[in-house]
Amino acid sequence: MESGTAETSTAKTKASNGTDTATQAPDRIEVLNPASGEACGSIDVDTPETIAATVARVRTGQAEWEALGNKGRYHWLGKLRDWILDNTDQIADTMQAEGGKVRGETSTELIYLADLINFYGSKADKFIGDETVRPHSPLLASRKLKVQYRPYPVVGVISPWNFPMALALGDAIPALQAGAAVVIKPSEFTPLSLIETIRAWKEEIGAPDVFDCVMGTGETGQALIDNVDFIQFTGSDRTGRKVMARASETLTPVSLELGGKDPMIVLSDANLDRAANAAAWGGMFNSGQVCLSIERIYVEEPAYDEFVAKLTKEVGGLRQGQDGRAYSCEVGAMTSPNQIGVVEEQVDEALAAGARALTGGKRADGPGDYFEPTVLVDVDPSMKVMRDETFGPVVTVTKVRDSEEALRLANDTRYGLGASVFGERTRAESIGRRMEVGAVNVNDVIVNYVAMDVPMGGWKESGIGFRHGEYGIKKYCRPESIVITRMGGKREPNWFPYTKVRQGLVGRLAKAVNARDIRRRLGKRG
Ligand code: NDP
Repeated sequence: MESGTAETSTAKTKASNGTDTATQAPDRIEVLNPASGEACGSIDVDTPETIAATVARVRTGQAEWEALGNKGRYHWLGKLRDWILDNTDQIADTMQAEGGKVRGETSTELIYLADLINFYGSKADKFIGDETVRPHSPLLASRKLKVQYRPYPVVGVISPWNFPMALALGDAIPALQAGAAVVIKPSEFTPLSLIETIRAWKEEIGAPDVFDCVMGTGETGQALIDNVDFIQFTGSDRTGRKVMARASETLTPVSLELGGKDPMIVLSDANLDRAANAAAWGGMFNSGQVCLSIERIYVEEPAYDEFVAKLTKEVGGLRQGQDGRAYSCEVGAMTSPNQIGVVEEQVDEALAAGARALTGGKRADGPGDYFEPTVLVDVDPSMKVMRDETFGPVVTVTKVRDSEEALRLANDTRYGLGASVFGERTRAESIGRRMEVGAVNVNDVIVNYVAMDVPMGGWKESGIGFRHGEYGIKKYCRPESIVITRMGGKREPNWFPYTKVRQGLVGRLAKAVNARDIRRRLGKRG
């Protein structure tokens, strides 16, 4: 049940309230603005009992929701789209307060959600409508085969703090469109914009009671897993393992969207202006707190110096800070109080081991959790900043002999979420096809996320399952096969009683159908 308050707050940034909420499990958690450290709201933490009650309540309404059909459900989700479009400024204010984002990066999330609602609303019949299947064998010719896609009754969504609307709602929308009821557990750091949305669903839109959220820390997430029929998790691979372990106790299926360490390869025939600008945006967008952030860049030797100069100039010119509604900054705060520490540790370790920061390289002065947009060179594959997810405004650049070396280094990671290749289109595509990732962008960065027509997900330790495309809604459904015998006698030849004559007939028929040569079809040996 949603239970938060979003005070109207002008400044703020998010920072920790100084307590280890995961172990102390307080009843109430303050939400802090990372740009200022000031409180901007608070949430009441759900107990295992209230979580179970919320799931049970939405479960009650699910059958009726499913019975509405794709069109009926799109009607209500369309109203949610309209509410988002009508309240963009208000939602963006809250997202900025709880997340420390710059204005330009709040609207991206909301546009994506409106598009996603329309995408699944208009394609649901195609993706999860009844299928009629032709039997593969003449022995089944009298059977009519159909597949019906029925939703898991209640889907639990556990979402992170970096895109509090796009990830929480983004995974709920296809589940709702599929006919499931949904309960979201947002990050304790950024719950407020979601609380506003759920309130609108219930009170302003007056939609069916099949959509809610529960509040709290990791313990809340664990309790949610115990109560739902499917878990969609987005977060770190560390937590993803815990989610999967807990879900295994109830044999609850999971889909995990985890971290990345995305590489970008710049070939010598690339448009270097575009490549450098793309690297700056792909690495610094949302302060680098993006699963698909560009974190490692490999540049063919002839292009290296020029590329690095262009990238450093672009990154060095970015404006960092809070911009209210002014659209006057590019880089905001680090949203999670712990994350800035992770970034700082990785960069400090790299600098101590011989890396150079061509721009940035440290925490920004002044209030708020800001890390300077950073370009690191002279890095080594053994450094943490090259091996672990950084999830901050930091890119590393490595000079490589040729594309084969770039490919080898790019694939040398336990992650496999996304990648980019810049260069002449055919050559870049052929290299992209050999990358070990869920999605590769040729002459672009991160754009695969809004190309929701195609699947988005991670290979290796970046995840299990995919969102977007047909798969992104089908995963919330269980296929129910319907096999109808159109005509038949008193009994089938393979039913009781077994007799030599009947079994002989079955055997001869099976040979006639399955053999691929005349002799065997006629019952002879080959
Ligand atoms: P976390 O894994 O720390 O948390 C994700 C969510 O899980 C939060 O709601 C968190 O709650 C909750 N949680 C924490 N512990 C548990 C537990 N034991 N059981 C169940 N739920 C739990 O991730 P972050 O919030 O730090 O997000 C950053 C990570 O998300 C990065 O690794 C990033 O790459 C990844 N990510 C992946 C994306 C993808 O599509 N592949 C997209 C965006 C981000 P609380 O916050 O309250 O502790």
